[in-house]
Amino acid sequence: MKTALITGSTSGIGLGIAKEFAKTKQYNVVFNGLEANGQEIADAIAKEYGIQTMFSNANMLKAEELRKMVDEAVSKFSKIDVLINNAGIQHVSPIEDFPDEKWNAIIGINLTSAFYLSKAVWKGMKERKFGRIINIASAHGLVASEFKSAYVASKHGIVGFTKTLALEGAPFNITVNAICPGYVKTPLVEKQIADQAKAHNMSESDVVSKVMLYKQAVKDFVSLETLGQTTLLLASDHATTITGIAMPVDGGWNAQ
Ligand code: NAD
Repeated sequence: MKTALITGSTSGIGLGIAKEFAKTKQYNVVFNGLEANGQEIADAIAKEYGIQTMFSNANMLKAEELRKMVDEAVSKFSKIDVLINNAGIQHVSPIEDFPDEKWNAIIGINLTSAFYLSKAVWKGMKERKFGRIINIASAHGLVASEFKSAYVASKHGIVGFTKTLALEGAPFNITVNAICPGYVKTPLVEKQIADQAKAHNMSESDVVSKVMLYKQAVKDFVSLETLGQTTLLLASDHATTITGIAMPVDGGWNAQ
């Protein structure tokens, strides 16, 4: 059995990826997130798929908690083979009103936490000559949209971080890649739909078709299964020569 640690996996994309990993029965899964029912989610998935799981509510803004989560996972499962840096937040605002504390939280959660965690798992991966680090960036890791300055900066940042670690990991069979999803219907996006409908005085369905999916050629949300399967591919033994990429899974948004 391999072990996958997935941050922000008690909601949305992280939970979707965790389920795809659990279904293979080849991974134990370390769950993480701030949702109050995190332990119940981890227990339910262990029972449903017959794998072992654990849960940690380590806060992405606290380096000590992140290091403790890695130590606990290593003492339970002996190693971490796959690290998926997925936890993330968003805040939408014109630059002149953008709150300083939101900027710092977005950079801390979306970018700096990946630095702390990659650093914490690196030594073990290097010794075992196997490691897979997969960063859930965004289409906004490749292009910008207005009013998302901190988010776009954090996601472009993680794409650069991905490339750097790919170079450092290459001699040790540690691959490091980013996945850049378009819109996925998760709590993070549902909140944006509601906020934008209010801000633009539009219906929620108009926000989806005229604002959100406007930039995607495929006028559909990206599914959790698609992201889970893409992540599994990058995590596999065969993916040794796929490293340092920022892979759009965005319905053609970046093709334009
Ligand atoms: P979500 O809100 O459903 O889930 C986010 C997860 O991160 C939750 O489990 C939450 O508890 C956790 N989290 C947030 N702050 C944390 C903190 N300080 N410490 C620990 N955990 C924390 O959001 P989602 O849509 O599933 O987003 C997951 C990732 O995918 C994010 O990095 C996001 O930027 C990225 N993404 C989302 C979309 C989309 O359309 N939903 C598109 C592209 C990229």
